[in-house]
Amino acid sequence: MTELPDINHWIAGAAADGQSTRTAPVFNPATGQVAKNVRLASTADVDAAIAVALAAYPAWRDTSQARRQSILFNFRELLNSRKGELADILTAEHGKVTADALGEIQRGLEVVEFALGMPHLSKGDYSENVSTGVDVYTLKQSLGVVGIISPFNFPAMVPLWYFPIAIAAGNTVVLKPSEKDPSASNWMAELFAEAGLPAGVFNVVHGDKEAVDALLVNPDVQAISFVGSTPIAKYIYETAALHGKRVQALGGAKNHMLVLPDADLDLAADAAVNAGFGSAGERCMAISVIVAVEPVADELIAKITERMSGLKVGDGMRGTDMGPLITKVHRDKVASYIDVATADGIDVVVDGRGIEVDGDPSGFWLGPTLFDKVGTDSTVYQDEIFGPVLSVVRVGSYTEGLDLMNRSQYGNGTAIFTNDGGAARRFQNEVQCGMVGINVPIPVPVAYHSFGGWKNSLFGDAKAYGPAGVAFYTREKAVTSRWLDPSHGGINLGFPQNA
Ligand code: NAD
Repeated sequence: MTELPDINHWIAGAAADGQSTRTAPVFNPATGQVAKNVRLASTADVDAAIAVALAAYPAWRDTSQARRQSILFNFRELLNSRKGELADILTAEHGKVTADALGEIQRGLEVVEFALGMPHLSKGDYSENVSTGVDVYTLKQSLGVVGIISPFNFPAMVPLWYFPIAIAAGNTVVLKPSEKDPSASNWMAELFAEAGLPAGVFNVVHGDKEAVDALLVNPDVQAISFVGSTPIAKYIYETAALHGKRVQALGGAKNHMLVLPDADLDLAADAAVNAGFGSAGERCMAISVIVAVEPVADELIAKITERMSGLKVGDGMRGTDMGPLITKVHRDKVASYIDVATADGIDVVVDGRGIEVDGDPSGFWLGPTLFDKVGTDSTVYQDEIFGPVLSVVRVGSYTEGLDLMNRSQYGNGTAIFTNDGGAARRFQNEVQCGMVGINVPIPVPVAYHSFGGWKNSLFGDAKAYGPAGVAFYTREKAVTSRWLDPSHGGINLGFPQNA
């Protein structure tokens, strides 16, 4: 039997084995076969990577903004010109189709471009002569070593939400990507080194809970950025905060799309299919619930069903619309909700099991699935299923729909479809969600705004990227300065007053 290649860590500008001998299989989800094995770091391995990042920090912090920018600019150019290679890695390990992989990389590239504005974004303030001969100014300085922990569903984009901004601001990074599709992180780290990034500024360790816990407790890590499921996000937030770290932890979602009776139902159906089944529903901004305000449900469902029948499911390298799910375990769990739906008296309009695929039958396939008349007491409605499963809930009015949405434990993204500007404006005010689309089904903000949800979709105060990202990776220092002058002498034990 041929030995499968190991995916190593990337530490101090080179591939590293680490000491741990534990590994995990990395599948090609379109074939169901193990393609590689990834190393799983021990606490000692992670501590060693953190020590490397700590040692690299002072020189990187003191590198001029101009030099830092030119390295980041080189990285942007390399990433843009070689994004096809990265897209192939994403399709091979995650399963998403090539067009979708390229879209993910493009959104990440936009964050790199935003981070290129760091000299402007990190400028401080200056107040002259606040007291006689005294000036006050603020500096925005880097934090030190920051840890990033990312999920499987965006192996390129989510790390790119964070590390370009952290590094542009003068921090050094230890990234722990998902062990399910780890190669994209190594590829990006190697590319950044090729762009001229000094060794040790950007390190990648692979692993599971042991590696994550090592990052959360190590006193040399100043901040943690996390994206993943809600229970883990909460754990990360609590544990990292307990260890004195700044932390932003983005969690799961169940995104609702409200369709009002005056909406253009063709546009709404296109949007529902794109946002429900793109990336096989494995997006934190996927639409998983359509809240149809009657009398539109029957017509909307007919239009959605018609569009679903045209979707090509199969190997993402073959020009299909939708690829496989990430693992067999996950596919089976998502598919099990079809049985739950039947048991709960939900109408199974389209059952995605047993569909014909353009690919290896051993892949982790599940076709697009549609449920109607979903009750809010069913786990089909309550759970984040994270697969190609769309539920329709029928309501009698805007208010009934809004109340239902606002009772959700999640508040990541939402969308309203309507031609009534007043209703849309009321919705943007009343809905309890961090990101709102008006006739836009996946309202992921552009790189110069910030990304993040409310409620159980985000723990901590800071959203990702945009101005919030700059604020998260910098801290302010206020300097009060007086250049000595004989008039400043004398003893006064009172609290300093300005004059
Ligand atoms: P996950 O929570 O299982 O894993 C995320 C990361 O945490 C991985 O790096 C994993 O190794 C690590 N991890 C897993 N279990 C852990 C544990 N017990 N202790 C410490 N670390 C642990 O999430 P996933 O399945 O990789 O990703 C899908 C989830 O991510 C979905 O819930 C999705 O909604 C969410 N997500 C949210 C956003 C957002 O912006 N809010 C974006 C993308 C994905």
